[in-house]
Amino acid sequence: MSLVALRFPIDRLAGRRYPEEPHPYRNEFQRDRDRIVHARAFRRLEDKTQVFGEGFSDHFRNRLTHTIEVAQIARTVASALSLDEDFTEALALAHDIGHPPFAHAGEEALNRAMAGFGDKFDHNLHALHIVEDFERRYARFPGLNLTFEVREGMLKHSRDFERGERPEFDEYLPGLRPPLEAQIIDLADEVAYNTADLDDGFSAGLFTLDEIAGRIPEYGVLLGEVRADHPNVPDGILFQETLRKLINVLVSGLIEGTIEAVARNGCRDLDDVRHAGRRLVEMLPRPAAANRGLKKFLYERVYSIEPLQLERRRAMEEICRLFDHYIAHPDRLPEGHQSRAAELALHRVVCDYIAGMTDGFFRRTYAAIFGQGDAREA
Ligand code: MG
Repeated sequence: MSLVALRFPIDRLAGRRYPEEPHPYRNEFQRDRDRIVHARAFRRLEDKTQVFGEGFSDHFRNRLTHTIEVAQIARTVASALSLDEDFTEALALAHDIGHPPFAHAGEEALNRAMAGFGDKFDHNLHALHIVEDFERRYARFPGLNLTFEVREGMLKHSRDFERGERPEFDEYLPGLRPPLEAQIIDLADEVAYNTADLDDGFSAGLFTLDEIAGRIPEYGVLLGEVRADHPNVPDGILFQETLRKLINVLVSGLIEGTIEAVARNGCRDLDDVRHAGRRLVEMLPRPAAANRGLKKFLYERVYSIEPLQLERRRAMEEICRLFDHYIAHPDRLPEGHQSRAAELALHRVVCDYIAGMTDGFFRRTYAAIFGQGDAREA
């Protein structure tokens, strides 16, 4: 199961914007990984919602624990395929650092607010700004001075772009696919959040084992196997045993599907990967169907439930309100952000400021401006 010929050749690194001496015992991707782990934006993931906000349970994922799960799955896949595990790990750890507070509601709200200025919010672009500029910890340069390959992977892990589509990204090889190490992230992310959201949804009592099995045939098969092996264990244990098998099915499907796609497309080296007309990391058809079934089930039984929708509407409303507040009163922005407004459009500065907030910082800021309690009436 080796794709070692397609592994990113670390001796072909395009390098860093600001040249640096090699480290005596860490390679360049290990250094990038460590820089990401020590970034403030990485630590802020701890107080950013993944799906369930505060108040649901102390056991549910936040964006940091989700990120760790993505890294663990992505590394397993990279290692099974003999790809560069350090490169993949660095990208997995960075993949969500551009996320605003309150999960997708935050992203949608910022996008809506920016649309009023003919602009938009893109969390991958925001992540790039974080590692290129906002993080300040080195004397010689702004940002983290990550390798070109990690920056390219951050930008392209979930989508490709063509030349001219985003002129500001033209240095990142438009039209070319990223290395396999970066292509792994998107599906590792999906496997991680689909299975984790099923876990959290089950813990929240949103559905039963048989309801999942009734909707996802592959899950039904796995549950049947677990019940046959362990006829007298409680549902919570049956669920965990089945979930573990499900993760295995999805991850194995991802590993084997990628090997097949590489063979089908006749890819022999990194250049073939880059010039392939499509992405090569994919799942075999059966696990892919299970993954789609899972996603659909989660939309119906988790993401669309009223308590989450209520949180979502409230978060969007509050983000838009805070955004409008700073547009009307730029003098109330923290000093560092005010000085950016001298060079950049105000809506961009306000968007960056809010996007960087944790859920908790957002709530405190909002309450300080609009008051506690029924702040929305204030
Ligand atoms: Mg993610």
